Amino acid sequence: ASCGPVGAPGVTADLSENIILTSLDDLHNWARLSSLWPLLYGTACCFIEFAALIGSRFDFDRFGLVPRSSPRQADLLIVAGTVTMKMGPALVRLYEQMPEPKYVIAMGACTITGGMFSADSTTAVRGVDKLIPVDLYLPGCPPRPEAIFDAVIKLRKKVGNEALAERGNLRPTHRYCTIPHQ
Ligand code: SF4
Repeated sequence: ASCGPVGAPGVTADLSENIILTSLDDLHNWARLSSLWPLLYGTACCFIEFAALIGSRFDFDRFGLVPRSSPRQADLLIVAGTVTMKMGPALVRLYEQMPEPKYVIAMGACTITGGMFSADSTTAVRGVDKLIPVDLYLPGCPPRPEAIFDAVIKLRKKVGNEALAERGNLRPTHRYCTIPHQ
């Protein structure tokens, strides 16, 4: 039998029941949705909540989120905890080692704004988005594991609606490689 649109001449009845029409974007996104692999990365107390997700109580894996120790195997970076000036270049390096398409969740007040260190600290980065692009901000001190799930579900919606052309290999990370004057 020849292949063509369902109902088109030449498509047999049994074959037409087994054809699914979709776009390349939808197929690509469907495959990625349930395999976002977060990098095991944490710098302060927020990571304790992130670590709780990995255990059986919250069972992070049921969303296909399998924590990875290597940035080359991860496509999700959940920045959990205070980022210091000294840690900044290492964080950028880890981000750059992750393959595209990749996503970043800024978790907790310290990561998003510097938190309690934002007023007069000279060692804390006041907002991780000064270093790397952020896809989703998750406020709290610390956000609970349920809130992390909520953030991941929102991120999955974003991934599901993305076009391949939108997420190229040319994200402007080079602009984020140095810590700007605060
Ligand atoms: Fe710790 Fe709160 Fe900062 Fe998270 S936001 S790293 S829980 S002080």
